[in-house]
Amino acid sequence: MDRRDVDVVVVGAGFAGLAAAHRLAEAGRRVALLEARDRVGGRALSRTLADGTHLDLGGQWVGPTQYEMQKLIARYGVATYPTPEFGRAVIDYEGRRLAEMPPEVVRLRAELDRLSRGVPTDAPWEHPEARSLDGQTLASWLAGATGDTAAARTVARQTAGALLSLDAGDASLLETLFYLAGTEGLDVLLGFAGGAQSHRLAGGPQALAERMADALPAGTVFLGEPVRRIEHGAGGAVVRTDGGRYGAAAVIIAVPAVIAGHIDYDPPLPAMREGLTQRMAAGYALKTHAVYREPFWRDLGLSGVSVSSSGVLTETVDNTPPDGPSAVLASFAYGADAHRLRAETPDGRRLAVLSRLAGLFGEQALDAVEFVEFDWLAEPWTRGCFSGHLAPGGWTGFGRALRAPAGVLHWAGTETATRWSGYFDGAVQSGHRAADEVMGLDI
Ligand SMILES: Cc1cc2nc3c(=O)[nH]c(=O)nc-3n(C[C@H](O)[C@H](O)[C@H](O)COP(=O)(O)OP(=O)(O)OC[C@H]3O[C@@H](n4cnc5c(N)ncnc54)[C@H](O)[C@@H]3O)c2cc1C
Repeated sequence: MDRRDVDVVVVGAGFAGLAAAHRLAEAGRRVALLEARDRVGGRALSRTLADGTHLDLGGQWVGPTQYEMQKLIARYGVATYPTPEFGRAVIDYEGRRLAEMPPEVVRLRAELDRLSRGVPTDAPWEHPEARSLDGQTLASWLAGATGDTAAARTVARQTAGALLSLDAGDASLLETLFYLAGTEGLDVLLGFAGGAQSHRLAGGPQALAERMADALPAGTVFLGEPVRRIEHGAGGAVVRTDGGRYGAAAVIIAVPAVIAGHIDYDPPLPAMREGLTQRMAAGYALKTHAVYREPFWRDLGLSGVSVSSSGVLTETVDNTPPDGPSAVLASFAYGADAHRLRAETPDGRRLAVLSRLAGLFGEQALDAVEFVEFDWLAEPWTRGCFSGHLAPGGWTGFGRALRAPAGVLHWAGTETATRWSGYFDGAVQSGHRAADEVMGLDI
């Protein structure tokens, strides 16, 4: 293909790349948004079952204080619906059913929230105790903070697991506190009504991403265009895909850091950026959907929400769409649990998940009519989820490189956000920030 010249090439059409492309196009810049997959949305992915039941295989929730997403939802007129909570949650604590979390769990969570308040989300390395916080893991902090191993394990699973999709032994304490500081704390992060799991989007977030793509000027979005190589210098960049060549004054790379590291750069990226890439792998969460004819758990007075201090599933939730027709329980396994499940055969995984659901909600859970899973680790353009995290020592050693442009190359993606990092909202914020940086270049 002949060379195509634009003002800005944006790599990756997830929410970050789409937001960047919009901001640039609205300011009159010519943009090429290059997407490796044959669809937009990235970590937002919907599937509709044969009977019409909608599933979100990637991200699904938005919360009321995720203001960037709320603006998009309003702009594109997307309907939302609350996460169903028709009964009480199951709290499985050391094999016992509790009505609420034990006081020690509540205390440890509050202590993490308190510690997080001092973390500057735009520069965590500037925290007065950054080195000490970044030199320990959440697991080592918990071991010192309590002698109650069950409480420590529960907080580890809810925080490192459910939020970062890591094991607590792999999660830098500074990274954990950064994650909390960019939101409104653990109650909001883990909450349903009013929290981060408050609402879902009719048609799923992928449909919103599609609407954003459709609203861009014709000829902006190029699907099936994996960026392989970027030649860059003071005068601009040439971006090469399998079949194409795009010239631009600047490039916004809106993909996870590890995936950005698969691109060939000429000249190579600065050493600090390379160091950051090596330390920012994604966590691993396995989200599965068990589909039933009826939401049988509601008849038992249960909401479908569960939190477990042990067992392969940390959390479950009622994922039944309001218009059905089938009922859905979504389950989440994190870190080592997710890897253990992944190592099973598909039948073994189904049995392991359904058996655990039966332990939580009764034998009817074994009678799923469908079991749907999606392995984000196997996806070459994502390689893990929910998002990338700096390993211990990463923020203090290499954090300054996270958003620092490398000449005309600028960085976006939810991992680069200072608010709601790891979420759709952070992705949108990051896209806007990178677009503003590029427009400041007077191109
Ligand atoms: C299972 C799961 C559950 C989640 N739950 C939630 C939730 O409930 N709420 C929430 O807010 N967030 C959730 N998230 C996180 C949310 O999905 C992400 O934060 C968000 O989608 C990230 O957007 P992004 O644009 O930064 O990156 P991505 O969505 O990863 O977009 C990057 C894009 O770049 C493309 N790409 C990669 N490499 C190249 C290349 N070389 N050339 C061209 N294109 C390339 C990819 O194909 C992709 O489309 C979840 C994620 C997963 C996987």
